[in-house]
Amino acid sequence: MAQIVISRFAPSPTGRLHLGHAYSALAAHDFARERGGRFLLRIEDIDTTRSRPEHVAGIFEDLAWLGLTWDEPPVFQSQRMPLYERALADLKALGVLYPCFCTRADIAAEVAASGFAPHGPDGPLYPGTCRHLTPDERAARIGSDAHSWRLDVDAALKITGPLVWHEGDRAIDATPQVHGDVVLARKDLGTSYHLSVTIDDAAQGITDIVRGVDLFDATHVHCLLQALLNLPAPRYHHHPLLTAPDGSRLAKRHGAPSLASMRAEGVDPATLVAELRTRRAADRSIT
Ligand code: GLU
Repeated sequence: MAQIVISRFAPSPTGRLHLGHAYSALAAHDFARERGGRFLLRIEDIDTTRSRPEHVAGIFEDLAWLGLTWDEPPVFQSQRMPLYERALADLKALGVLYPCFCTRADIAAEVAASGFAPHGPDGPLYPGTCRHLTPDERAARIGSDAHSWRLDVDAALKITGPLVWHEGDRAIDATPQVHGDVVLARKDLGTSYHLSVTIDDAAQGITDIVRGVDLFDATHVHCLLQALLNLPAPRYHHHPLLTAPDGSRLAKRHGAPSLASMRAEGVDPATLVAELRTRRAADRSIT
């Protein structure tokens, strides 16, 4: 019997949803519904300094306004910290994590001093300062100094060997090294986007991840974590980002109208959803 398709929408409640979110939610929802599958909602609220309960309420209101329904009670990442801690312990036991005591300022200074700093998709790569600490140096600081935990990508790839992940039917060579040694547990949170998203996609049995192409590069890291933690590998379907009529990216920092403000202005949700579906069909025909 064919595997049932399960997709998800996983917004972070750090602001109101805008049109780009509506497009992404619809894309993930329709992907599952068109295949007789299930659609799940996950609230990615690990960042307690930026997440707000009113934005969680806003997500429910906005999705209901669009007419979207999901098949299980929503999952809140803030309630799943023990799961992330367990995964972190497993990764530590594999010897692929190291504590990093650097502040942002330390890293910026190191990058500036190096003259030539390799860059990844998100800017300069971590220069590896704390990877070179001796066990004694680590032991001396770990009990007293704030630290994050970074993935030693080279050590991890030595364990897994070369990896591929699937974008639709296309096999993509995983190149997590383009990100350098990413943080898997932030100093302030004990986890990170990369770790939590990978654990939860597996825990929720997500078979197909439909999300914006802005997260395409992050998938290299997620693929590596899946291999290290023996998690099933979902298929990925990164969609183009919805752009404003002038071609600029729609994001709240660029003043994209929120769905709440569109609702207040009397926009008809059925018309809006039909327009977004037409747009999606056009995007699919060229990707
Ligand atoms: N929570 C992420 C965001 O709002 C999306 C995570 C994902 O789809 O992998 O940007």
